[in-house]
Amino acid sequence: MMCMYRKLDKIKDIYKRFETEAAAYKENAACRKGCAYCCTDAGSIDITTLEGLVILEKIRSLLRPQQVKVNKALAGDLKKREKGQHSVCPFLMKNKACMIYEIRPFSCRRIYSVHVCNQDNPPKLSRKVMKMAENTIRELQTLDDTGYSGHISYIMHMLKAPKFLSNYLAGEHKPGDVMAFGKTHNIVINLNISDSLK
Ligand code: SF4
Repeated sequence: MMCMYRKLDKIKDIYKRFETEAAAYKENAACRKGCAYCCTDAGSIDITTLEGLVILEKIRSLLRPQQVKVNKALAGDLKKREKGQHSVCPFLMKNKACMIYEIRPFSCRRIYSVHVCNQDNPPKLSRKVMKMAENTIRELQTLDDTGYSGHISYIMHMLKAPKFLSNYLAGEHKPGDVMAFGKTHNIVINLNISDSLK
């Protein structure tokens, strides 16, 4: 089994490869700093547990008041999503910039649009990039093969539970516990790789 540090390094390579392959298609993107359509009107912002670890480390590096603010925003998002209410990404700042831009998860990296988006005009991107993104997601899930994926605040919530975190870091796979957690919170957590593929 690949060690966690190696896996965390590998994520960067996977992001980089996707960005290099997709660069030509993104040349005509209408996306600009300050446009946060994808962060405010997004459906589920899915991440893997491995991507969540990177984000957890970032949160822990923040000053205490910022940590409290982020954790509050994550808890608020979790609650709203449980109730099926609309919620903007907990990492979107007041100036519409992303607090974790450098380490943002792949679901944010794969989206761009050739036109300026609004409610009647959702993001439009190349089918080829969508296909590349599908393959990249598969690669990220395979890399995190003892992990899970789901909406960002759900995964962060699980990683903040000491028991889940220690089991996950030890490479222990306890899908039953995780599914029970999902059920009690009315949220969807996916196993990254089905047992038949391991
Ligand atoms: S993580 Fe950053 S880029 Fe992704 S949805 Fe949230 S604010 Fe937007």
